[in-house]
Formats: sequence, structure tokens, C-alpha cells
Amino acid sequence: MKRLAYLMIPILLLSGCSQEPSDKKQFVTIGTGGVTGVYYPAGGALCRMVNKTTDSHKIRCTVESTGGSVYNTNTLAAGELELGIAQADVAAKAVQGSAPFNHALSEVRSVLALHPEMVTLVARRDANIHSVADLKGKRINIGSPGSGNRRTATELLQSCGVEESDLALAGALKSSEMPDALRDNKLDGYFYVVGHPTANIKDAATGTPVNIVPLTEPCAAKVIAAHDYFVSTEVPAGLYRDITEAVPTYGVKATLITTTAVSEETIYQVVKAIFENLDDFRTLHPAFKTLNAESMRQGTTAPFHAGAIRYFKEKGWITE
Ligand code: GLU
Repeated sequence: MKRLAYLMIPILLLSGCSQEPSDKKQFVTIGTGGVTGVYYPAGGALCRMVNKTTDSHKIRCTVESTGGSVYNTNTLAAGELELGIAQADVAAKAVQGSAPFNHALSEVRSVLALHPEMVTLVARRDANIHSVADLKGKRINIGSPGSGNRRTATELLQSCGVEESDLALAGALKSSEMPDALRDNKLDGYFYVVGHPTANIKDAATGTPVNIVPLTEPCAAKVIAAHDYFVSTEVPAGLYRDITEAVPTYGVKATLITTTAVSEETIYQVVKAIFENLDDFRTLHPAFKTLNAESMRQGTTAPFHAGAIRYFKEKGWITE
């Protein structure tokens, strides 16, 4: 008797332990961008899809507004976020360990690709900016340190031979502050790498007459040619006040990323919840209108996470 009772204690403890994780909710947070951009509503839409089926997988998803791609990537690597949205060019730089990253973040993984983002140079109409060369002597917001804009715009400016010291101001405002600064004539223009339409540029165009500058000079073509992840594209006509013609520029995919520290099971469940609710997901933002199961696997730069690979294999989209 005595002996049996002794044996039963560890068994009870063990079964208590093994039940706990399956009943307990697991929280995942997606790092996004400024509240007037597209990442923030994109994160909200992704979480909505995951949270629809929380009862079955126990994952509860929440969104955080952040400085953007570079912040999200660094914070993921520090283990302080489980998911983040980042421009594919920024994710590529992270994996390689090139600027703005000072060492390779080899643990970064792709989950899926989202909408295309366009390198968008918004300018006050009275500033007369029609090319990158025209930026010399102007007050231009390049982007906050955590933003992807800052990285992408810096690469373009370097290719075009425009130094920060050539600008009257090389601004580092965060994205949500840019439209007011433009309206209040504290800036002549700003770079934003973003999906369209975005509330941010709607606000700017409503506040003051603006133009979107075409990025078609040879120095821009050189940047596009140097990287597979950049493609020539345009900002569509008719989305913003007075922008009645499409503006040629180049773009890059927004990608959902994570790290190897997040489990295969968690990422598998997240990917499954999103891919199995694509029709709903697409309706949540006009920038997602053209997304489909194929495009959402194209344009990523970091290797896919094991959980994403598991889902893609299950669907027969990949074989090895
Ligand atoms: N691409 C921008 C960045 O990484 C964010 C765009 C957005 O918030 O929609 O900083």
C-alpha cells in the first residue's frame, strides 16, 4: 500500500505537467510599423485569421506598432517578438549581415510574403522635385532608424551620388509624423517604402498639394538591377488627391518573418490559419487584393521556417 502511494505521486505530477501546455494559450506578437502605414493593418488582419481558430491551436496573436522593418528584425533576433513584418531587402541584409546590421542574423526565417511595397518619394508640389537629382538642397525625411525606408532610400541616394550633406535636412522622423511635417512646410519631401493605398499618403495629399516623384533615373535602374528582390513597378493612379497618373518606381515584397527560436508547430499553425482563410484575409485591406497562395510564397529572401515548409509540403507545393 505504502509503496503504491509513493509511486502514484510522480505519476500524478507528470500527468498534471503534460496537460498544462495544451490547455494554456500561447501568445505571439507581430511587430508592424507606424499606425498610418500598411504593416499595422496587415498585422491586424494576420492576427484576425490566427485568432479565428485559437480554440483549436491555442495561439493568441497580438499586434504591436513599431518603427518598421529594421526594428522588427532586430527585436525578433533579440527574442522579444515572435513575428514581424519586414521588407525583403531588409531581411536579405539581416541574413547577410550587411548595413544597417552589423552582423549576420542567420536565425531569421521567412513565414510568407505579403503585398508589394513601392519606394515612394512624396514631395510638396511647390518644392519642384521631379527626380532624385533635384533633392540636393531640399529637406527630405529619409526615415527613422528602425524603418526599412531609411535603408532603401539610403541605398538609392548613394547610387545617385546624393550625400546626406547635400540635403538641407536629412530627416529621421517616424512614418506617422511625416504627413504633418510636409503640410507644415518643415519638409519638402519624404521617402516611404509602403503598399498602396496608405492612410499616410492620403493624409499628406489632403494636407497640401503633393506629387509622387518617378524613380526612373539610371542610378535607380542600377539599384534595381543589382538585386533580385527589387522589381520595376508603379504607384497606381487615382489613389491620392491629384495623383491622376501612375508613377513609375520600383518595389519589394513585404514579408512576414520569424526566427528559428519559434517552434515548428507554432509557425505551422500560423501559416495554416492564414492560407486557409485567404478569401477573408484579402478583403481586410485594399493592398491585399491581389494576394494569392502562389504570390504569398514569392519574393521572400530569408530561408523559409520549418513550420512554413511543413505546411507547403502538406499542400504539395514543394516536394523536398
Ligand atoms: N516598409 C516600411 C518600413 O519597413 C513600413 C511600411 C508600413 O508600415 O506599411 O519601415
